Amino acid sequence: MSRLDETHDPGRRSWIESANAPGTDFPVQNLPYGVFSHGGGPCRVGVAIGDMILDLTAAEGQGRLGTGQPVFDTGSLNRFMARPKEEWTSMRRRIAALLDAAAGTRDLPLVAQADAVLHLPAEIRGFTDFYASREHATNVGSMFRDPANALLPNWLHVPIGYNGRASTVVVSGTPITRPLGQLKGPEDAAPRVGPTAKLDFEVELGALVGTGNAMGAPMSAAEAWEAIFGYVLLNDWSARDIQVWEYQPLGPFLSKAFGTTISPWVVTRDALEPFRVPPPERAVPLLPYLREETPNNLDIVIEAELAPEGRAGRRILRTNARWLYYSAAQQLAHHTLSGCAMETGDLLGSGTISGEARESWGSLLELTWNGRDPLDVEGGRRAFLEDGDSVTLRGHCDGPYRIGFGTCAGTIRPAPAAPGPRD
Ligand code: MN
Repeated sequence: MSRLDETHDPGRRSWIESANAPGTDFPVQNLPYGVFSHGGGPCRVGVAIGDMILDLTAAEGQGRLGTGQPVFDTGSLNRFMARPKEEWTSMRRRIAALLDAAAGTRDLPLVAQADAVLHLPAEIRGFTDFYASREHATNVGSMFRDPANALLPNWLHVPIGYNGRASTVVVSGTPITRPLGQLKGPEDAAPRVGPTAKLDFEVELGALVGTGNAMGAPMSAAEAWEAIFGYVLLNDWSARDIQVWEYQPLGPFLSKAFGTTISPWVVTRDALEPFRVPPPERAVPLLPYLREETPNNLDIVIEAELAPEGRAGRRILRTNARWLYYSAAQQLAHHTLSGCAMETGDLLGSGTISGEARESWGSLLELTWNGRDPLDVEGGRRAFLEDGDSVTLRGHCDGPYRIGFGTCAGTIRPAPAAPGPRD
């Protein structure tokens, strides 16, 4: 079942020359949506093309997009994401035609990316974080429990997840404040309050729900694939020492709730169609509602770079979303199984993406094996993140052309003083 159309033609070029440069993240075959402002003006919806942004809010106002009711007039993507999926596809075809090298008119509202401020692309009211990488779950289970039984008995049957905080999902570039938390080492008699000493990142893929489901009405995996509007890079900042004390028995709480960074450009499901790949081999058969009849994994290379304050960045890992054991479609299908209602703009994190090789492990927890084997960075070594450190994720698909995700970056700010009276 191929859903390729003329928007996926590798030979297609744009009259915007920077979109034809070999290394660009944003060729005319990509067309990711985002929200931007410039010159202190209001938020507008746009599409990235080369080093420019096509201002869809303005183009729609000029009647250039053929929309009846406006869909790009609210300063977020939600109104468009809530439209039927056929409209996502027809809009992509229309925008591609406007930007095509053969287009008759070049009189379009364009803004240089260098002059724009990027904002959260959607109003995100729900954030759920999964744990869908078998290699990551195996690493963590080996580290904290038992290498011989690293995966818990449910893992190969259930896409494990927890409900996170949408209120602290932020766009790339937003500083992250080192969290305070209750800390208690194994030798400590009692917990204390302090800044985390094990601040970490998690390399993840985020999926944004376009079409929700009614409460009480589950989706199949096939329906869930179609319900996803698009994907972003996601860094799920984590405090490992807070987590280890708080997580039993209900799972992570404050250790994961202080900040989650996403990349500003939403790469659409339509754009990723040529990069669908089969999932890893199943260790045990999945229950029927999780079975996929199409390859729903995505071949996306994701790299992370760590830069100490005032120093150059150094690449510390390279992984691939194709290794996830459960696809975003399976995560979403599972999320709805009980009748949980999913809404337009809900964000699903894949969980840390790790592969088999050490250089593909998607967190410092794994790369340094909980601090035992520090990494070399410019000017020093790191077990976990220090104040002033910046982490930047970049992702792209490689094929007949390159589809990029842009960057997902954040810098660590020092922790505040602990609230309340002194002991
Ligand atoms: Mn996570």
